[in-house]
Amino acid sequence: MIVHDRLYIGGELVAPAGTGTIDVINPFTEEVAGTVPDATNADVDRAVAAARHTFDTTDWSTRPASERAEILTKASALISGRMDELADLIATEMGSPKGWGIFGQVLAPTMILDYYAGLGQEYEFEKTRAGLFGPVVVRREPIGVAAAIVPWNVPMFENVIKIAPAIIAGCTVVLKTAPETPLDAYVLHEILTEAGLPPGVLNIIPGGREVGAYLVTHPDVDKVTFTGSSAAGMKIAAAAGGLLRPVTLELGGKSAAIILEGSDLDAIIPQIVDAGVMNNGQACVAQTRILAPQGMYDQVLEAVTEKVAALVVGDPLDPTTQIGPLVAARQRERVLGLIDQGKNEGARITTGGGRPEQEKGWFVDPTVFGDVENSMTIAQEEIFGPVLSVLPYSDEANAIKQANDSLYGLCGTVWGTDAAHATDVARQIKTGTIGVNHFAMAFSAPFGGYKQSGLGRELGPEGMEAYLETKSISLDPAAG
Ligand code: NAD
Repeated sequence: MIVHDRLYIGGELVAPAGTGTIDVINPFTEEVAGTVPDATNADVDRAVAAARHTFDTTDWSTRPASERAEILTKASALISGRMDELADLIATEMGSPKGWGIFGQVLAPTMILDYYAGLGQEYEFEKTRAGLFGPVVVRREPIGVAAAIVPWNVPMFENVIKIAPAIIAGCTVVLKTAPETPLDAYVLHEILTEAGLPPGVLNIIPGGREVGAYLVTHPDVDKVTFTGSSAAGMKIAAAAGGLLRPVTLELGGKSAAIILEGSDLDAIIPQIVDAGVMNNGQACVAQTRILAPQGMYDQVLEAVTEKVAALVVGDPLDPTTQIGPLVAARQRERVLGLIDQGKNEGARITTGGGRPEQEKGWFVDPTVFGDVENSMTIAQEEIFGPVLSVLPYSDEANAIKQANDSLYGLCGTVWGTDAAHATDVARQIKTGTIGVNHFAMAFSAPFGGYKQSGLGRELGPEGMEAYLETKSISLDPAAG
């Protein structure tokens, strides 16, 4: 069992103010895999003070970004050297199958670190443009202390997607991990320290929503960045709004995969299913609404059903496992409840629908629903489990209408033999990220949501600019 009885604050492992602890439960064994301190508001005060001190009194924010970039490059290499260990740790924390986790949970964060290291080498933090009386220097400055709050589903990915751009920008960070997944953040701190991160740049608070809420409104925080549910995002936006505090929100999704007429199902269905159930379906970008032309509907439903029924369910640490347990018993109950609701509203289960025969672990059968209408709860709510819906559409206009008929707008895909035409369809979907004939997130491109999927963008230069303020300095007109 992994026991942490201290908190990373100001570059040191310090004793927490309180005595509470959080048990990290392995969703496969249902046993305690580790414990960490349950941080309190007093710990948040100390963490924010350390971040504030480092930002205000050291050269961290004013040193060249290229120096900060070197830290990220080293950290990326160090993570790569511990890939297996980290994939195992995250699988143990939240049940992500290792076969997928190696890429999605560990390699992807190294790619984000590498991307921001590259950006730090080339980004122009000052540019001069013509003004009314002479040149104006437009300067991008680090915003200050960032409060970062993350969910449990891709913990290291979420930690890095916030910390890496904040570091390049020259900010300092107080990171509140999800209570389910605090363990990998300890390793990340260790790695970043080894890579040369100065004390106080990253401070870590394991805790629940109460300390998260306290952190959001802390007077010494300059910027809030949150990933999690839309419900929590709305509360955080309201709290930040009351302070006029900049906030980035990455929230839920209910993305559509639109299959166009004439598509080669053998080629695309495996990819669509993978993008629908990755990470046991616990992915904000999961392609959970599969839209098929009426004339191909039966074929698509059959192919999706066949592929999902063949998924290997089991121990997340076994590299051949494709579907592991859900993060918690409450998540399993929620997903089973939504499956029941799908049945009650008239959708038809073509595979799955219950709990697989496993001795223990919070499993739900990989499940496919046919005869789904877009107004049904299973087509509107984010399920966050291995549950896919296949919906028919009459013509392309109807496909676009259904894809857009959602409170969310985070991701999506369009699949067709004419890539230019598929791209045209993609242009008409109200979503922040969409892929044509593949599913991927490009770390150089902005990622985020329309509508209730969020506010602002992560990744790409836009993701770093969320940690920058803008200043215009009108130069002395007489200086020539
Ligand atoms: P959650 O909203 O319950 O919790 C997320 C984090 O916020 C946790 O650390 C939690 O302790 C904290 N929190 C909750 N309420 C808070 C409050 N009022 N003030 C401050 N902190 C608070 O979400 P979850 O169940 O941990 O994660 C799943 C959700 O995250 C899904 O909706 C998923 O789509 C979303 N998600 C979105 C993205 C994205 O990039 N858009 C990525 C991953 C996950």
